[in-house]
Amino acid sequence: MPVRILLATSNSGKLGEYRELAAGTALKIDLLPKFQDFSPFEESAPTFAENSAGKALHYSRFTSELVLSDDSGLVVPALGDAPGVLSARYAGPDATSADRVRKLLREMEGKSGEERRARFVCVIAIAQQGRALAVVSDCAEGMIANEPRGVNGFGYDPIFCFPDGRRTYAEASADEKNLASHRGKAFRRLVELPIPTK
Ligand code: IMP
Repeated sequence: MPVRILLATSNSGKLGEYRELAAGTALKIDLLPKFQDFSPFEESAPTFAENSAGKALHYSRFTSELVLSDDSGLVVPALGDAPGVLSARYAGPDATSADRVRKLLREMEGKSGEERRARFVCVIAIAQQGRALAVVSDCAEGMIANEPRGVNGFGYDPIFCFPDGRRTYAEASADEKNLASHRGKAFRRLVELPIPTK
């Protein structure tokens, strides 16, 4: 019997990726039921780790099952590590992914070569009933494309290229992204951990 873990997110892109990543492992990922009804967790910490651990602890108070949170984002050293922990709110609270992509491309105008280096970061935390059980993290290096390309994935995928700068994550298949991505690498670390299940 796989161990069920409830994902605390409103991001359907993340849910789809975790379901694919968990296929064939001892874990099964479902959405935390009624996630939208719970008081939201304020992601105001300066690090992905604090936000992820805080989010997992917060939502784990609403269920007896294991809760998984994912705090992730795009880090561009040439922009002082922006958008970083503010990746989801980079273009304001009501902006779309397309708005955030446009803003990032505007900020990158005039930057070339090494200045277009970027990385995705992902911190996964597992908690149960207010107790943190595990935190894992990883990152994926890449380059910011000159314009959006591809229709797969979500968020900043259309402008995040694999390190060779050729294809964006949105031009890759789900399997190709999961093999290289911050989330795929962090999840594979998680699978290796002896997480207590009761
Ligand atoms: P949060 O983790 O919910 O605070 O938000 C993560 C932000 O980073 C969102 O704006 C996502 O679109 C973006 N992000 C995180 N992981 C990825 C990814 O794998 N591809 C594209 N964008 C991502």
